[in-house]
Order: sequence, then C-alpha cells, then structure tokens
Amino acid sequence: MNIEQYIRDIKDFPKQGVDFKDITPLLANPEAMRICAQELLNLTEMQPIDKVVAIEARGFFFASLLAEKLNAGFVPIRKPGKLPFDTLKQPYTLEYGMDTLEIHEDAIQKGDLVLLHDDVLATGGTAQAACRLVEQLGGKVVQCNFLIELSFLKGTEKLKYYEVRSLLTY
Ligand code: IMP
Repeated sequence: MNIEQYIRDIKDFPKQGVDFKDITPLLANPEAMRICAQELLNLTEMQPIDKVVAIEARGFFFASLLAEKLNAGFVPIRKPGKLPFDTLKQPYTLEYGMDTLEIHEDAIQKGDLVLLHDDVLATGGTAQAACRLVEQLGGKVVQCNFLIELSFLKGTEKLKYYEVRSLLTY
C-alpha cells in the first residue's frame, strides 16, 4: 500500500498561498495507520530510545505508537498554558511572529536518549525549539523523525546537528 494516497493537499490553508498536507485521511484508515507506524519505526532502526518526544498536536498520533514499540516513555511538548505541571519554555520564530513551546520540567532525565517526532517538517523552527527543550533538560536527541518533510522549506538546515529522517519528502 502507498500511504501517500492518504495525504491530502488543502490549498490556501491556513492562509493564502500555503499548500497544507492534511493527514486526517491517513489517520482514518487502520491499514494506512499500521503501515505508516511500522515505516516510522523502521526509520529509527530500533536504536535504544528512552523517551519519544512529540510536538502538539499532530505529532502525538504516531509518537505514542512509536513509544510503545520502542519500549520508551511518551513526552508531549505543547503550546503555552496547556501543560499542568512546572514547565520549561522555549520561544521560537514563525514565518510571521513568534510562538513558544513548553515541556514539563521533569519529563526528561539527564542522559535520556530521545526520539523527536512530528508529522511535518516545514521550516524547522518548531523542531529546533523542541530539541532545545530536550537538551536543556539534559536529554540527547538521537533522531528527529517526521512523517512528511517539505524539503523546499529547508528545515534540515535548522536541524543540521541532528539525524533527520522522514518517510515522505515533497
Ligand atoms: P515549521 O516550524 O515551519 O517546521 O513547521 C512545522 C510545524 O507546523 C509542525 O508542528 C507541523 O505540524 C506544522 N505544519 C507545517 N506545515 C504543515 C502542513 O502542511 N501540514 C500539517 N502540519 C504542518
């Protein structure tokens, strides 16, 4: 099965000129989900992983499946004000303006080996901020793992110090 057929392009979402990759058809198909999860797992080459860290919200779907298969913990990184316990914050630049990501202060132990996962790598600013949060807590990012990489936005340049693997590249 070619999982690409379950990814839908939405023109001009969330704003004019943006071609949004919508993974909801993939999420709605159990066989596509299964295959996608297995292929994302294959990208990790079953390296030892202590924590799978995922970025809100679309990173959560596959990260929890990966965590279970890797016998690792699942750690959410979220937008401000969503996590209930004490958090570490990391501001980052968007195409227009700034945003912030947060992680629970006790989510990573010193020396933890971390797999970072998100659905889409675009400019790389989000993943870079997430890696910084992990590192400030003493974790080591062993791989950044994405379902989709939009290579024309050159996100890998922001992640040049990390191993970056993506299932589909556009
Ligand atoms: P970046 O910081 O520019 O790399 O943007 C990546 C973040 O934006 C990820 O958390 C994605 O979920 C989201 N994102 C960017 N483009 C798309 C898209 O086409 N489809 C789904 N999510 C996207």
